[in-house]
Amino acid sequence: MSSASRHAVVIGGSLAGLLAAHVLKDHADTVTVVERDRYPDGPEHRPGTPQDRHAHIFLKGGVQALDALLPGLPDELREHGSPSLGMPDDLLQWQGGQWFRRTPAATHMLTGSRPLTDWLVRRRVLADPRITVLEGTEVTGLAGDATRVRGVRIRPRGAGQETRTLAADLVVDASGRSSRAPDWLRAIGAEPAHEETIDAGLAYSTRFYRAGANPDGATFRGIYMAIDGEHPRGGLLLPVEGDRWVALLSGFKGNEPPTDEAGYLDFAASLPDPVMREWLDKADPLTPIHAYRRASNVRRRYDRPGRRPAGFLATGEALCAFNPVYGQGMSVAALCAVALRDALDDRRRTPTTRRVQRALVAVARQAWDISAGADRAVPGATGSAVRPRAVDRPAAWYLRRVIERVPGNRVVGDTFRQVGSLAAPTTAFFAPRVARAVLFDPVPASPSSPPLLPETPDAGH
Ligand SMILES: Cc1cc2nc3c(=O)[nH]c(=O)nc-3n(C[C@H](O)[C@H](O)[C@H](O)COP(=O)(O)OP(=O)(O)OC[C@H]3O[C@@H](n4cnc5c(N)ncnc54)[C@H](O)[C@@H]3O)c2cc1C
Repeated sequence: MSSASRHAVVIGGSLAGLLAAHVLKDHADTVTVVERDRYPDGPEHRPGTPQDRHAHIFLKGGVQALDALLPGLPDELREHGSPSLGMPDDLLQWQGGQWFRRTPAATHMLTGSRPLTDWLVRRRVLADPRITVLEGTEVTGLAGDATRVRGVRIRPRGAGQETRTLAADLVVDASGRSSRAPDWLRAIGAEPAHEETIDAGLAYSTRFYRAGANPDGATFRGIYMAIDGEHPRGGLLLPVEGDRWVALLSGFKGNEPPTDEAGYLDFAASLPDPVMREWLDKADPLTPIHAYRRASNVRRRYDRPGRRPAGFLATGEALCAFNPVYGQGMSVAALCAVALRDALDDRRRTPTTRRVQRALVAVARQAWDISAGADRAVPGATGSAVRPRAVDRPAAWYLRRVIERVPGNRVVGDTFRQVGSLAAPTTAFFAPRVARAVLFDPVPASPSSPPLLPETPDAGH
């Protein structure tokens, strides 16, 4: 933003929008967040974020970014009951046809409910007097032309409301995966971004429970049965605040988990091990079963050249939306906000729209590579970016060796979890110790049944 730019507008007041507004308040006199919904008073569901009825994990890389933006917020989440789970020791994890060893934690994730996270972030961000929120107000278009965006067209929600222009020097689109910015850009004579899409047809069915009972003597705090190209059905069970648990069943195209009671339980029984079904049988349901059916990967290449206006940026899922099974979207929203802050604070370079946008795309790249890379391998996946590139082949060969060693090799497993948590770069796989294990160590034995107890810290590598 130039020094003369004093008003910034953020479209959408979910996680990406609020964190962007928090950064922009230090670079503009005022920031307005335009949010279609009216916010609930506390940690409650709202219609603009239908995904908040489903499990949300906050990965280590995202938690670190959140803490950098809003110091102490992860602690606040924990104080409000958001569980912190060690990976892999707290989880029964089955992936790629194998159970993982429960070696001491290499990384932690927060598993509190999405409404709790949103409420605490919202409360903190909107306490700043430089940030105003227009609730119950919808953005219907952009003002300006193909060279510069000069504001947004807004309308209070409800029948017969007038549309007006809200002038702004900078507009940030944080309206999520269904962003209508491509149409809005066309309407002012600009080019929408090229969209890369990969759709594996993922479907979720989720239900919250009162705590059930682990099998006798078992100490796990969650179950993760991963879905992938060869195993099109998965399950996830995690604790959330308030002595509740969230159970999520997932399936790719043709394996959609049902939303009726009997079908839900039958689906859980069809997973490769009965442990999740047995837990569900002993637990009391607290909610109906909710479905989510739109979960493709979509990356809008606003960083690529095109006739696009200055003063328009996209962040969060409006920029890059992921298959949610990898649990990355909130973390990327936080990482994008850190990248926005760093790009705007950088005194050595003028923060042009293009330069800032490129920084946001760059910070989302690792998460995209993980999610898109895995989903390309799902039979029947569709979309413009579904075909693997020749350059991916050697990387895929190496990654296969990594994955074979993750369940039983602690060096490789810990690196895999750090990278997957967005807390270490992908290059960590090529550190000498890890590369040696990947290239020369035999594929180690992994547990033949769910390891009901964690390993002690000095158990063998
Ligand atoms: C089923 C599911 C499970 C997920 N699980 C995880 C997980 O485990 N971990 C994780 O990190 N991420 C997860 N995600 C992703 C995560 O929910 C998002 O990445 C996160 O919400 C950040 O997205 P966002 O703020 O960019 O957009 P969203 O959260 O989608 O919010 C967009 C906001 O924009 C508002 N809006 C939209 N259009 C307009 C308009 N025209 N005018 C005004 N306001 C508008 C909406 O009301 C909404 O508030 C999951 C997603 C789904 C779908």
